[in-house]
Amino acid sequence: MTTETAFDLIFRNALLRSSAAPVDVGVKGGRIAAIEPRLGQRLAPGLACEAVEVDLGGRLALPGFVDTHIHLDKACLLGRCRHDHGSVSEAIRAVAGMKKDFTVEDVYARGARVLERAIVHGTTRMRTHVEIDPRIGLRGFEAVKALKRDHAWAIDLSLCVFPQEGLTNDPGAEELLIQALRDGGEAIGGCPYMDTDPNAHLERIFDLAQEFDVDVDLHLDFDLDPSWWHLDEVCRQTERRNYHGRVAIGHATKLSALPPERLRAATAQLANAGVAVTVLPATDLYLMGREATYNAPRGLTLAHKLAGDGVLCSVATNNVLNPFTPFGDASLLRMANFYANVAHASVSDFDTCLDLVTELPARLMRLEDYGIKVGNPADLVVLDTQDSRFAIAELPDIAMGFKAGRQTFERQRPALFRPGR
Ligand SMILES: [Zn+2]
Repeated sequence: MTTETAFDLIFRNALLRSSAAPVDVGVKGGRIAAIEPRLGQRLAPGLACEAVEVDLGGRLALPGFVDTHIHLDKACLLGRCRHDHGSVSEAIRAVAGMKKDFTVEDVYARGARVLERAIVHGTTRMRTHVEIDPRIGLRGFEAVKALKRDHAWAIDLSLCVFPQEGLTNDPGAEELLIQALRDGGEAIGGCPYMDTDPNAHLERIFDLAQEFDVDVDLHLDFDLDPSWWHLDEVCRQTERRNYHGRVAIGHATKLSALPPERLRAATAQLANAGVAVTVLPATDLYLMGREATYNAPRGLTLAHKLAGDGVLCSVATNNVLNPFTPFGDASLLRMANFYANVAHASVSDFDTCLDLVTELPARLMRLEDYGIKVGNPADLVVLDTQDSRFAIAELPDIAMGFKAGRQTFERQRPALFRPGR
């Protein structure tokens, strides 16, 4: 029998997605030590209870949201540039123009602003894509490494380094990438559509991934023309290198433009190769389909459908308040709601839509200690709802968060001041 003294902290009445009724979660040394109803309450009267107790009142507890794709280093640039950009290439050009002047302090300050909003919106794990090239050098990387260190009390930040401006066409970029991989880069990205030789770009990215034994997370394509793509080459490289389950592609907007039979073939290809897809609704919707003057295609790949057909998928933030996406609050619950609405998700899809910002991105990042399970770190965020089925739909407030059993934030319930009282 478990005893209360076996715990430092007990969450009472936590509704978990896996349980029909609220349960208690006992925490010892920052890890989850027990999950059961009325934990320790069978003890004989008089036995001291040393555990701190937090009553969640039957509200939903999640292990935190997981953001696999965000750009902290180029966030919050709206005040610095004209932001009526409308295309991918204009956005890339605008940021390339600004980034040669980025300092470590500047990237840190802008990144911290976004990271702290993500924390209070319940994100506990995040992969940030960091630009590495001769314009920015390693300044962005140094800033993001400092962000990782300084916010480790609230969030696990992982660094994916990538050459946004291309690789084979950008002398010096590869040497910098190698330095970053030697010095803390935890995954490698790529941008084949920015390279004059996309296949050589992919070949080199996969070479480096193998050399440093890191996962690959690419910006794959960013247009709605399905007559050509780099997806075949990504799957071929993945299979050739036995990288099944270690490769993700972001945006993949071309998938949204495929007729059903081609989409079926591409889905099977991705599932067989073990290549995951990350959909970035805010950016994809903002940048795609702009050439249309009416009835514009939205360029949103249907992640919940792909997930149903065996492709590992996530929905993520990507850019916040910059020329790629002049919107954003780093809330993944809001992003999943936004995705579900635009993607025509039905009520029966809502659970999968919540998975797209929790369980599935955790699998994409191969986070083996994620989830409210005995033995895992006591990472919990509490949503102000008593029904997990509609969390995506009703956007409850994120009431509080805990990382390894330590409280990281709290949001006060809004109060109504009725007249006549
Ligand atoms: Zn991106």
